[in-house]
Amino acid sequence: MRRAGPLSSAVGPQTDAQRAERLLSSLKRTQVTIACAYLYDSLLLFGFYAAGFVGLSVAVVVSALLTLLVLTVNWAHWSGWSSKRKDPTLFLPQQLYAIAVALGAAIAAPQIGFQPIATLIAISAFSFLAPNERSLLLCWAAAAVGTAAVIFIAGPRLAMPTSTLMGQGLTCAVVLGVLARCIWITVFFAKLRRRLSEKNKALEAAIGRIEALASRDDLTGLSNRRSITKWLEEEMALCARAGLPLSIALLDIDHFKRINDHYGHAAGDRTLQIFSECTLGAIRGTDRVGRYGGEEFLVVLVATSLQDAEVPLQRIRERLATCDWGPIDPDLQVTITVGATQFIPGESVEELVRRADLALYLGKEAGRDRVVLDRTPLEQIRALARS
Ligand code: GH3
Ligand code: MG
Ligand code: MG
Repeated sequence: MRRAGPLSSAVGPQTDAQRAERLLSSLKRTQVTIACAYLYDSLLLFGFYAAGFVGLSVAVVVSALLTLLVLTVNWAHWSGWSSKRKDPTLFLPQQLYAIAVALGAAIAAPQIGFQPIATLIAISAFSFLAPNERSLLLCWAAAAVGTAAVIFIAGPRLAMPTSTLMGQGLTCAVVLGVLARCIWITVFFAKLRRRLSEKNKALEAAIGRIEALASRDDLTGLSNRRSITKWLEEEMALCARAGLPLSIALLDIDHFKRINDHYGHAAGDRTLQIFSECTLGAIRGTDRVGRYGGEEFLVVLVATSLQDAEVPLQRIRERLATCDWGPIDPDLQVTITVGATQFIPGESVEELVRRADLALYLGKEAGRDRVVLDRTPLEQIRALARS
């Protein structure tokens, strides 16, 4: 079984089965609302029959047609038949059928024509469920052309049945029914918007976590090479613009291979972790350290000249002697060699790091456990200032 990771717990990726289940449950909920609306329309028709506006046959036939629609659509959803269709919501056939029934009712009983025409408006409002523009346009065209045809065919016979008190009451009930559907749609959209905004927040949080994970080194928890290099690039641009100095240093653990060989790889890993904690504790708040590779670390000292960088770099080196190496061997002695250089405005990260690497190499050659400052950039900076 696949375990849910930090992303899945936040955003909740769905399997096809889960997605289909959710769609079905949302369709069923919508169908209940639609069925209630049609039941309401049918009751009003029987009301109009009781009030003497229409014959029983109109109320019975229209109600039967609407019942047939509700039963068929529900059967299609519950049996799973609709899920095999291109549009599982069955939007287009449902809407066209409902529009046809409303228009037919208006033609058959134009004396209460206001009800089917008003209902048609409510039916069209449900077009927001359309799966595509084509379905939407087809429904709107059918409703518009059909209504125009009914108006021209029925002419003055098309009426709002308000000649009696009961007719007035029923007409009010028609308006209330249409308004209720419009309010339902508004509430539906408000909920949808809220759900979307919650999902967006969860997504943003998940992206934040992914970014944090992608920028961290798994073993030490420090910034990884990509992240520290990106940060260095940004700081280089900022310092160049502000006219501030910036120095970097490559720290390399001396004879680290021996630690691995003597204590094992796991102890080597632990050494890297203790070293990272120690170094983090020794750098200033404005500086940053990242794991550049294997047992090599990059320290970025912002707004710091090469001379000023020497003190904190020596402090890191000296601090290692006081680190608690107990988890590996209390007598373990870890030393580092540091190569440092100062940024020359206009140069690339690669050029800058290459100079620090050269200073590091010189430090190793000179016997390790030392800080070597690459003074070339200072001469170049002075030369730049003179020119
Ligand atoms: P030098 O003083 O010249 O830097 O010698 P060194 O032994 O530190 O350097 P070398 O490049 O010969 O060896 C580095 C070793 O670091 C080799 C490699 O297996 C080990 N190493 C690199 N990454 C890791 C890691 O994540 N965990 C462990 N345990 N060892 C690592
Ligand atoms: Mg080394
Ligand atoms: Mg190395």
